[in-house]
Amino acid sequence: MKGQPLHKDTVVIHEGYQDQEHFGSLAVPLYQTSTYSFENAAQGGNRFAGGEDGYIYSRLGNPTVRVLEERIAAIENGAAALAFGSGMAAVSAILTHITQSGDHILCSRGIYGCTFGLLKIMEKKYNIKHDLIRMDNEEEIEKFIRPETVCIYLETPINPTMELVNLEAVVNVGKRHGLQVIVDNTFSSPYLQNPLSLGGDFVVHSATKYINGHGDVVGGLLIGKEKEEIAKIRSTIQKDYGGIMSPFDAWLLIRGLKTLPIRMERHSENAEKLIAYLKTKKYVEEIYYPFDKDNPQFDIAKRQMRAGGGLISFTVKGGRKEAQRFMDHLKLIKIAVSLGDAETLIQHPATMTHSGVPEEGRLEMGITDSLLRLSVGLEHPDDLIHDLEAAFAALKNA
Ligand SMILES: *Cc1c(COP(=O)(O)O)cnc(C)c1O
Repeated sequence: MKGQPLHKDTVVIHEGYQDQEHFGSLAVPLYQTSTYSFENAAQGGNRFAGGEDGYIYSRLGNPTVRVLEERIAAIENGAAALAFGSGMAAVSAILTHITQSGDHILCSRGIYGCTFGLLKIMEKKYNIKHDLIRMDNEEEIEKFIRPETVCIYLETPINPTMELVNLEAVVNVGKRHGLQVIVDNTFSSPYLQNPLSLGGDFVVHSATKYINGHGDVVGGLLIGKEKEEIAKIRSTIQKDYGGIMSPFDAWLLIRGLKTLPIRMERHSENAEKLIAYLKTKKYVEEIYYPFDKDNPQFDIAKRQMRAGGGLISFTVKGGRKEAQRFMDHLKLIKIAVSLGDAETLIQHPATMTHSGVPEEGRLEMGITDSLLRLSVGLEHPDDLIHDLEAAFAALKNA
């Protein structure tokens, strides 16, 4: 569409799809097919030779998946995107694409557990080393750069402590030293933060979380600022490793994406209401949330995020036992990992998502036994507060 650029709220609904090319079907059709017939032998040969556009086989491309890819590329202000069968398939695709045996990767000190597992595999099998570091300022990052360093890989906010990485500082270092900057943007969602607009090179998402928003898909997305680079990954790593997304999952994600902006606004509003409530409880010690005015990193948050999102972490008095007892008294709020769903979820990182992190490193990152992570859903905030209140009341020193 020509004219002025569309707002994100419109892009999530319209980008990458022309209904008149599909019998006027308002909803994006689900092309549940594994292969595509050619009009004649010459056309088949031509498509294989790259002489003409068109579909060949669904591991190489599918029209439903392609709508999702074009849409997410536009939402993230990128040039092109690829859809994968999980967030981890997207993460492993970009990291294996960028690195050669012997290379070095700089990572934010908190990264998703399975990304850490992937880095350990890469180290053992391919001698690709990494350092997990604080990225508070440019000098701090530069100290760890080696001749073999090829990229900076980070998450912000960092799970589960909601610590922020200053994207501007990272991008400056990346530019100065010729390092690609890759951001796992899952926690912010593409509505609240767009690392490519801030100078990043690649963004990955676990689409399982906010992008889907309904807790019924596992999927991943990779977005790049250069079309050719994404095309190269499509025709090599994605084609030959084969970690593609199914058309049905793409169809569900297209549907989920339409409400991403209004969902993120509601998640953020609900989170702020819960924080105001949690601050009144003497049982709560620390609260971690990017857009909390008491957060020392609030300035960074405002520079790179549109709102705070739905994730809150907080510590309760009394350590692991009390934290677990608190969770067990919740009724409406479900005990579950994952995040970004309509349902509010709570988990205990020390024994759940971060139980695999050695204790020393875990404590250094602030993941204590009394830390709880809440993924605030879309329920009425008063009902959530009521549920929390009942759980606090059940603890004798509440
Ligand atoms: C969930 C998650 C992943 C992994 O995504 P899957 O879809 O489960 O493979 C990666 N990064 C972050 C930050 C996540 O929350």
